[in-house]
Amino acid sequence: MTLNDALPPPRALIGGDWVATPQTLSVEAPARGESLATIARCEAEHVDCAVAAARQAFDGELGDWQAWTARRRGEWLETFARAIEADAEALAMLECADTGKPMRQARGDITACARYFHFYAGAADKLHGETIPFAADYAVMTLREPFGVCAQITPWNYPAQIFGRCVAAALAAGNTVVLKPAEDACLSVLRLAHLAVDCGLPPGVLNVVTGLGSEAGAALAAHPGIQHLSFTGSPATGTRVTQAAAVHHVPVTLELGGKSPQVVFADADLDSALDAVVRGIIQNAGQTCSAGSRLLVEDACHDTVLARLAERFAALRCDAGERDPDCGPLINARQREQLERRLDAAHADGIRTLAQGQLAEGAPAGGHFVVPRVLVDIPDDHAVLHEELFGPVLAVQRFSDEAEAVRLANATEYGLCAGIWTRDGARQLRLAKRIRSGQVFINDYGAAGGVELPFGGVGRSGHGREKGFEGLRSFTQIKTVALRHG
Ligand code: ADP
Repeated sequence: MTLNDALPPPRALIGGDWVATPQTLSVEAPARGESLATIARCEAEHVDCAVAAARQAFDGELGDWQAWTARRRGEWLETFARAIEADAEALAMLECADTGKPMRQARGDITACARYFHFYAGAADKLHGETIPFAADYAVMTLREPFGVCAQITPWNYPAQIFGRCVAAALAAGNTVVLKPAEDACLSVLRLAHLAVDCGLPPGVLNVVTGLGSEAGAALAAHPGIQHLSFTGSPATGTRVTQAAAVHHVPVTLELGGKSPQVVFADADLDSALDAVVRGIIQNAGQTCSAGSRLLVEDACHDTVLARLAERFAALRCDAGERDPDCGPLINARQREQLERRLDAAHADGIRTLAQGQLAEGAPAGGHFVVPRVLVDIPDDHAVLHEELFGPVLAVQRFSDEAEAVRLANATEYGLCAGIWTRDGARQLRLAKRIRSGQVFINDYGAAGGVELPFGGVGRSGHGREKGFEGLRSFTQIKTVALRHG
């Protein structure tokens, strides 16, 4: 199949119908800066129809979703997971062209997307409430019930993976969904939605409204007909959608990014640590919420680590995703210009580039490439250590002891992920407890995405947990039923 054959038509999925909108938006291929496809530009009225369809499917007369047992929902999720696997190459091709990421990473993302549906397929009928010993003449139970219509606003960096993370868990728990994917990259999501319809999902259970954040996104977050909102994106937009949802007291799960540290002690397996440090920042060109964008190195191994790091970074090459380079382009000109401005400011402040990669020979002109680089000589309070740069830029600091490592690791307002590299077992756990972060990896980083592992942040990284069983529970609410039998 060619890329052109895989492109979805510019339509939104509303109540089981593929709907054209009066206006469309052009989607750019980040590796070339040229138009790749067009998508529907949904506005408030389309969002209204999608929310109404999701409500109807949830408990209206036409909807039979409520009649589906948890087991049947799980069976559907399993069927869908297999359909994703059967279509993996076309989906990966779209993801690669649309986001610019290297083809092997796009393939990994589709595998992870399918894996979410496998995982929640198995989990759907294993979610249950509890009984509570209360008083002798009472029987008390908790019922875990779906919220109803779940709104999901997702970003452009991992369209297919985040589709899996949000949609699989919400549907497994018995909700219906209105999804607003990002305007910069959503082609894989549209193709996934086509597959879901082909797999027999009842109309209205999943609705996809493409369009601008300021139009379709804002209308969805503010909609009185939603009962839950999941948002993954920037802190500023996270604040905006939370404020909009608060008007109707809608609970919100926020995943807002990070400034995650990798902490390397001199007793660590330095080769493994360096592999993970490089991977953790160049993956998806650093446009990953959980990117390991800060490296904290113990004095005793500082010079060795930096020398080896410099060698590795100098060997990195940037190119179009389909050539499967070390690093692809950034998503658009705005992100690239913003990053370049921040790097210029850092250099003007005396921060040094220790080493950097290069553009591969023959890399397409017009691509939004920023070569991966390592920054050193950074004052503790400088913005490059505190702000999420969302690019392949690693900021290095050194520390002399455990206390300083913890202080530096916790010095940002974010707290999404952390990596600790040491062979000392007691120190591993001391640090895991003291570092403020939703996830801590010891002698690893990221665990290849880890669908089973609860994920989410503290502080500016957001709140609520996705992935794993915790993610499934977060798409339900407890009803307490207290029966006084006398
Ligand atoms: P970025 O600036 O990198 O695109 P955002 O956090 O703004 O990151 O985007 C994440 C998602 O939020 C996208 O789907 C985007 O369309 C959506 N979005 C942007 N602005 C708003 C808004 N005001 N209300 C709701 N959704 C929005």
